[in-house]
Amino acid sequence: MCADKTILVTGGAGFLGSYLCESLLKAGNDVLCLDNFHTGSRKNIAHLLDDRRFELLRHDVTVPLVAEVDEIYNLACPASPIHYQLDPVQTVRTNVQGALNLLDLAVRGNAKIFQASTSEVYGDPHVHPQVEGYFGNVNPVGPRACYDEGKRCAETLFFDYHRQYGLDIRVVRIFNTYGPRMRADDGRVVSNFIVQALRGEPITIYGDGSQTRSFCYVDDLIRGFISLMDAPSTVPNPCNIGNPTEFTMRELATLVLELTGSKSQLVERPLPQDDPTQRRPDISRAKKYLDWEPAVELREGLAKTIAYFEADLTSGEDAPKA
Ligand code: NAD
Ligand code: UDP
Repeated sequence: MCADKTILVTGGAGFLGSYLCESLLKAGNDVLCLDNFHTGSRKNIAHLLDDRRFELLRHDVTVPLVAEVDEIYNLACPASPIHYQLDPVQTVRTNVQGALNLLDLAVRGNAKIFQASTSEVYGDPHVHPQVEGYFGNVNPVGPRACYDEGKRCAETLFFDYHRQYGLDIRVVRIFNTYGPRMRADDGRVVSNFIVQALRGEPITIYGDGSQTRSFCYVDDLIRGFISLMDAPSTVPNPCNIGNPTEFTMRELATLVLELTGSKSQLVERPLPQDDPTQRRPDISRAKKYLDWEPAVELREGLAKTIAYFEADLTSGEDAPKA
């Protein structure tokens, strides 16, 4: 990785952002971490605060910003359905107004800019596995639309700024990612199942649990982010980054029970509206152009994540209900 750059990471105090800040610092860059602490936490970045190359800025991306930076990674946005649906208008604003503000900042400073997009742009996909050329199947008026359409509009803006202003853009479509530092009350399936299993509470399967997801361990994902940002500008955008091994939610629950040794029962709860029935990335593009593929299997990544939650829940510091 090229070092000695000044890099802005929005959403830097979040789950993924904190790992990204860490990796960029380790490589010898100055990192400006911006966050409004909506879903992020100081705890995630506490170990970075003493690093003289790290700076923390409490700011909301919906408000324009002035900063001199070489690169921008835009990760600011709540990622869990329960959090992004709490204030859907703010979710759209964060995605759209936030993207506009950061793109304007990139144009002014001629900075390279990276967008954390999502597999949700494919909606409930009819093409499986999902290739980047698939336009998706999104309900524009449903409860997930604030996130899905917000991210789709952000992609549109990135591509228009590229065409109109010649901006160097990188757009990654992230598939479900998990690991230590997820919040116990995050609401996403991996943290829910682990926290429920460790507490001996029922494991909540939404619907019949036959829907699928493909889970990527956080270290693999961050390696993919940086490879994409550092790749030549001829690398095709957007680029899927995710682990292509697909599991049903019932299979995930069974694996979590096995790895935790928990006796929790599986209980069915209503399937949320517009919940995608299947999801799995086609990663041919990342393999070909970035020489990237995931290295951590679900069993191994879950074991590390379970160890994190065991320590986190017993520390009592941050033990909200899942
Ligand atoms: P997260 O909720 O832990 O992190 C998001 C961060 O953005 C938080 O620190 C939050 O406080 C901050 N934020 C939210 N709104 C903001 C605003 N208006 N201004 C400034 N900061 C704001 O989620 P995450 O899992 O770390 O996701 C990071 C990014 O990756 C998000 O953009 C998300 O959409 C995307 N993504 C994540 C996944 C995944 O599986 N983790 C999948 C697809 C896409
Ligand atoms: N899910 C579940 N139980 C939970 C939380 C989620 O069965 O306690 C399901 C959810 O309905 C979805 C899948 O797990 O089918 C992944 O959900 P998550 O919120 O983690 O991510 P996303 O739906 O955004 O992919």
